[in-house]
Amino acid sequence: MDFNDAPFLVIWETTRACALACVHCRADAIARRDPRELSTEEGCRLIDQVRSFGPRPPLLVLTGGDPMRRPDLADLVGHAARAGLTVALTPSGTAATTRARLAELKDAGLSRVAVSLDGPTAESHDAFRRVRGSYMWTMRIMESAIELGLPLQINSTISRLTLPNFDAMIARVSELPVTLWALFFLIQTGRGASLEQITAGECESLLNRLYDLSLTSPFGIKTTEAPHYHRVVWQREHERGEQERSAGSLARRRQLRAPRSVNDGNGFVFIDHVGNICPSGFLPAPRGNVRSTALTEVYRTDEMFVRLRDADALAGKCGRCRFRGVCGGSRSRAYAATGAVMASDPLCAYEPGAAVEPLIAQA
Ligand code: SF4
Repeated sequence: MDFNDAPFLVIWETTRACALACVHCRADAIARRDPRELSTEEGCRLIDQVRSFGPRPPLLVLTGGDPMRRPDLADLVGHAARAGLTVALTPSGTAATTRARLAELKDAGLSRVAVSLDGPTAESHDAFRRVRGSYMWTMRIMESAIELGLPLQINSTISRLTLPNFDAMIARVSELPVTLWALFFLIQTGRGASLEQITAGECESLLNRLYDLSLTSPFGIKTTEAPHYHRVVWQREHERGEQERSAGSLARRRQLRAPRSVNDGNGFVFIDHVGNICPSGFLPAPRGNVRSTALTEVYRTDEMFVRLRDADALAGKCGRCRFRGVCGGSRSRAYAATGAVMASDPLCAYEPGAAVEPLIAQA
């Protein structure tokens, strides 16, 4: 896909209402639905805008808050599915997600369920989610999704608070019939501003462990707000190629290419609960509103979106780095840390030289 033309992922925050009060919540979720939320009709118009990106439309993720707090959710999923979109849902781990409602959503055309699991045990998960019983509800949602044959994604947050449980999380996730494990690296925004970040060195070691896991795990692994995972994958693949060549087990030279990462405003766009268009939910810089401006126009032509897709506009070490085309660093973390969207990502341990490095090949 040409990310200048269309994003790979559109995330719509259908509501900010949520029964949980998670310590990292980007949205600072609230107990009741905001009366200014997009209506059903406005939501359907937004879905039509997502569809209008072209013949290969983006994936649509309905998030929150807790999207289950919207009584019109099946109508929205049905509208998106009839339009030809692939729709995923991220319900919160609460009693609002029953098997019957998931079945209704599946019948409406839902393609995937993504649930958050931030600790390997009820104690650790509930402490993070700040509600006793959230782990139990999360497990029930997983069971229902599995019974209904809905592909299951697990989302887990990486922060100082969750890092000690990382080994146990690998073991727990490996026990489950998971399609994708998505790891969200903390951005210190919203309620997450009070949480402690891991260090760049710890992040490097964790990304390498994820690469090791990816060699044997039956599920896919994806990082959010840690695009330097793509740099680590490229480096490790390169090392493996060298080792195989020196061992004589590789008859021909392997072409090493790195897949490019989906990054804030670059393959990715976020619509908040009142229709504001942002490069990411972690980068709260509205660049228009779907009530008055076409989503396609903002994504393709807005000055900030265009800049976010320009690897040569990056500053600091990200701007000199040979991986800036496939990685580019987290723009949300740079913004949260410095107020400048094109600054370096402080969670990356890679140190380029003093001069601008030539770009590596992209897939
Ligand atoms: S220096 Fe920036 S562009 Fe390079 S790998 Fe690190 S985060 Fe990515």
